[in-house]
Amino acid sequence: MKLLRHGEIGRESPAVVDTTGQIRDLSGVIHNICSNQLGDEALQELARCDINTLPIVDPGTRIGPCVADVKRFFCIGLNYSDHAIESGLPIPNNPIVFMKVCEVTGPNDPITIPKNSQKTDWEVELGVVIGKIAQHVSQKDALSYVAGYCVINDVSERAFQTEFGGQWVKGKSCDSFGPIGPYLVTRDEIPDPQALNMFLDVNGERRQTGNTSKMIFSVAEIIAHLSKFITLRPGDIISTGTPSGVGMGMDPPMFLKAGDNIKLGISDLGQQFQKVIAF
Ligand code: ZN
Repeated sequence: MKLLRHGEIGRESPAVVDTTGQIRDLSGVIHNICSNQLGDEALQELARCDINTLPIVDPGTRIGPCVADVKRFFCIGLNYSDHAIESGLPIPNNPIVFMKVCEVTGPNDPITIPKNSQKTDWEVELGVVIGKIAQHVSQKDALSYVAGYCVINDVSERAFQTEFGGQWVKGKSCDSFGPIGPYLVTRDEIPDPQALNMFLDVNGERRQTGNTSKMIFSVAEIIAHLSKFITLRPGDIISTGTPSGVGMGMDPPMFLKAGDNIKLGISDLGQQFQKVIAF
């Protein structure tokens, strides 16, 4: 299933994409797409519902973040060797983990350049949504803890991230820096999360081209690794790193400015479109 949430900010309703690509409202079936709806049983029950009889949603409606109550937003740094090289940093021996603590936003909501920012940058990433409690899970079992996958733009302010001391979190958590969606695509539709093409364009020019087969640490390795230290819970999101082609890595570096248009996508997971606006 491709699940999504539509409507005004903070008042989104659940929905699903039907076999013809139309959006159908799920308000009469489930309360929301939230952590208690992400387990296998709940998703299997939802899949039994006859969605072709549900009300059609206007395709022009705003799409919200695909999970209502994201618990924690983990990110994996430097998980593609070409991006580690363009960042001038060594290829990690273990997953580099940091947090994004801004609120998640809709896939097509504008991205605001933060006050005093000169270095706002883009990162297309595969997002993993955890569906059940994961503690010390093996790599072999790890993907069974996934509810589904989504597109994420791990928007980053490079000066805030690296020039003010401390952790990367400052450069990763500005308002509007967490667009997720459009869809939460349930894991049954993504048999191999390591075989997905990804791209990102700025103003119509291709900046990032990648494939999740190039990850240093696979989704299963990341889940197994994280679950040794942190009990993962339904509604947790893991953004799994970005391939090369970010603005910081260009020669000369290029960063976002008000008026820019970003388009990004991952095969089978949909696309995001963001207008960049001033603070
Ligand atoms: Zn990232």
